[in-house]
Amino acid sequence: MSEPDDELYLDAAASDAVPSSVIEAMIPFLTEGYGNPSSVHASGKTAARALDAARASFAADLGAHAGDVIFTSGGTEADNLAVKGIALAQIRRERTARTSSMPSSVPLPAHYPAHRILISAVEHPAIAQSAQWLHDFFDFDVVSIPVDAQAHIDLDTLAREAARGATLACIMMANNEVGTIEPVSRAVRICHAAGVPVHVDAVQAAGTIPVDFRALDADTLAVSGHKFGAPKGLGALLARSRVAIEPMLSGGGQEHGLRSGTQNVAGAVALAVALHQACTGMAERNRSLVSSRDALISAVCNAVPGTNLTGDPVNRLPGHASFTFPNVNGEALLVDLDARGIEVSSGSACAIGRHEAPGTLLAMGMSETEAKSALRFSFREPLHNADIQRIAQALRASMTALHAM
Ligand code: PLP
Repeated sequence: MSEPDDELYLDAAASDAVPSSVIEAMIPFLTEGYGNPSSVHASGKTAARALDAARASFAADLGAHAGDVIFTSGGTEADNLAVKGIALAQIRRERTARTSSMPSSVPLPAHYPAHRILISAVEHPAIAQSAQWLHDFFDFDVVSIPVDAQAHIDLDTLAREAARGATLACIMMANNEVGTIEPVSRAVRICHAAGVPVHVDAVQAAGTIPVDFRALDADTLAVSGHKFGAPKGLGALLARSRVAIEPMLSGGGQEHGLRSGTQNVAGAVALAVALHQACTGMAERNRSLVSSRDALISAVCNAVPGTNLTGDPVNRLPGHASFTFPNVNGEALLVDLDARGIEVSSGSACAIGRHEAPGTLLAMGMSETEAKSALRFSFREPLHNADIQRIAQALRASMTALHAM
């Protein structure tokens, strides 16, 4: 096989390049405005002003108020803070109620929610493992809400389980593995009607499709910068003040006491600038993304008979196409395509010598073998026709090389 001329990067859902405009916006806060934003001298105030401006811009682009924003090290930390922090705040409330007003033999009043966490069956490990941690250390019940064959959460089951009481429900806005956009607005209304707060993992959605935190009425929402052009290790949790959250990090009390640690001012500037660029002209860009995505889906399905598009065919992320392929292992296909200069993802957790089936596909009812044949193509800029043809040809060649067709 000849060496490819250039790589075609189709793994934007994993991470993406940082535009030079974002890097340039950060530099002054690394070289000149480098003060600690908590310091009271002039340099500190300069940094604090930059942080405030970044927070306001970032909040505005997510339909949030500046006071809703807790900057974190990314989506994983934001998800952990929401899930563990809300559950531990409940435990603190219960302890306070017990010690302050009631003899220990008296049960807590009925308005204290059950120690249950509802999570959709397709949540990212940052949510699923946080809920599992609450089970392991605090005996919380973790209730998995099933999804249909296109990964939409089952709202009837959600309503039934919410009615039984829960500390929190977690619903992702868009699925990372199959791109399905979830009915989060309806899920929030259902949970709130039962008095259950809702955390939304919007890591794949923010900067890609419109996110309006206040209109959605979610209680908390997680965002990650490296999905929309900011450097890795930057993100935020948006949180309404009506929901109590116990901090995970103890220290100087930055970020309203919810995330101690000196703030990354240059990082916050990068988050705000990258998000603003991603939101500017989003509707127009998404129209082009959708048309090149749909052209890619047709080309791939034509190139490899028996290919199956996974997730919702219409209501899916604009630059996201995911498939299962006949008679092939997705990991082997991924490696072969990589050698042809096409970089994609199997959408699953990979460890040395071990290829796990993507959890979302299993939750959608696929067999392990079918789920292990999955590949995900994700991009933030519309694809050229020549690129689409190159992908289709490479796939056909890879499938032939792997004796899958
Ligand atoms: N949630 C979802 C849906 C994701 O896709 C990811 C990362 O891919 C995360 C959470 C974790 O975000 P981060 O990489 O910023 O920790």
